Amino acid sequence: MAFAAVPASIEVPGNGAVVGVDRGVSVSAALSTGAMLNVPGLRRTEARRLTLLQRRLARAKRGGRRRRILKAAIARLKARETDRRKDWVEKTTTRLASGFDVIGIEDLRVKNMTASAKGTIEAPGRGVRAKAGLNKAILASGWGQLARRLEHKAQGRVIPVDPAYTSQRCSACGHVDTKNRESQSVFVCTACGFACHADVNAAINIETAAGRAVAAREGPRVAGPTHREPQHDLLLSA
Ligand SMILES: [Zn+2]
Repeated sequence: MAFAAVPASIEVPGNGAVVGVDRGVSVSAALSTGAMLNVPGLRRTEARRLTLLQRRLARAKRGGRRRRILKAAIARLKARETDRRKDWVEKTTTRLASGFDVIGIEDLRVKNMTASAKGTIEAPGRGVRAKAGLNKAILASGWGQLARRLEHKAQGRVIPVDPAYTSQRCSACGHVDTKNRESQSVFVCTACGFACHADVNAAINIETAAGRAVAAREGPRVAGPTHREPQHDLLLSA
């Protein structure tokens, strides 16, 4: 399935704009504008070198000089990866905060997810193996950092959205179906045939939900409904 080319950068529209940000599976973050963003990690040659160094470290004698040298080299590579991720998070959050009035993000409670599987290094918790891969991917994508920095830079303008069904719901017609997800990256609606990058479809749903939450908050003033759902207030003041 081919899609129209999507911009790799964040396009900044006019004021009053709402954007949805989805923590992608096949990309680091997808925006409802269609932009797909990836955290720059280690280059292929660097990643290969890291694996090689780690393998050598495993064989190196404890307390030896060679071990110290290998450890230092590994730390340098990892620091490089961390720096690139931080830089990406700073640039991305600045552009989101300045380019949009309201930013909807998945309420994933990333912190809890990563903490629960961790246990301690010496005595890892149950199910660590199963969760380790997923957690690694979440951390590597910098999602937690992204959400934290965004909330700091766009205070009061970040709307956490319940991620339930955001990946199964068609952003064009609203049809919810697990079969809507053709693959990890391809969304095809079984009802209306709408096709889209799966992460962008989810981001559009997040944008819609965030927009609705804001409308509910501003409802009495703007649209003038007499009844206001009390749970909206709870949701938004959290
Ligand atoms: Zn549809």
